[in-house]
Amino acid sequence: MTSSDVAQVDKGVRAEASGRPTRAEAEQAVETLIRWAGDNPLREGLLATPKRVVNAYESFFSGYGQDPVELLQRTFEEIDGYDEMVLLRDIRFESHCEHHMLPIIGRAHVAYLPKKRVVGISKLARVVETYARRLQIQEKMTAQIANSINEVLEPQGVAVVIEAEHQCMTTRGVHKPGVAMVTSRMLGRFRSDARSRREFLSLIGSASGARGLQGA
Ligand SMILES: [Zn+2]
Repeated sequence: MTSSDVAQVDKGVRAEASGRPTRAEAEQAVETLIRWAGDNPLREGLLATPKRVVNAYESFFSGYGQDPVELLQRTFEEIDGYDEMVLLRDIRFESHCEHHMLPIIGRAHVAYLPKKRVVGISKLARVVETYARRLQIQEKMTAQIANSINEVLEPQGVAVVIEAEHQCMTTRGVHKPGVAMVTSRMLGRFRSDARSRREFLSLIGSASGARGLQGA
């Protein structure tokens, strides 16, 4: 995937979102769900609920209006040959699964090995947040974060590990609380060089449950 591909996909996502229903229609849909659940949307406690839910959705899904490529565009090239790992660990995020629209809550660890440029460290967290605030599956989100950093910064390597709990597993379906799903995407030197990968995995720590990935 090139960075223009990434931008293209993002535009596609936004173009579809532009055929957007009005806020009143969205509130109407919430009201329908309340009635479907078996309650009366006109009782006092529920009167403002559709409005609150739509406000919450605005924040949960604000990632559709943000472009991760643009976020990463502002880079710094005066790095005096720095070519060691840059790692941002334990980036907490909240996302929503695209199958049940229930929360996915977890942490992302993002690292890259700079070649010519570095990016402000907060930008890495913003990229995680942008992809998290969309309907997601964890595997895709992991790949999107790694790919966008790889395409824009052109580093020697990118590593992303995400561990998260999916409420569609803990509050419904198989009801298995405490189960974390771990996904990873290693590009460039993190993929080809076991030592770089091991260094990354040991820096993110054994708490991550990512230990099993060391031999991968
Ligand atoms: Zn789900």
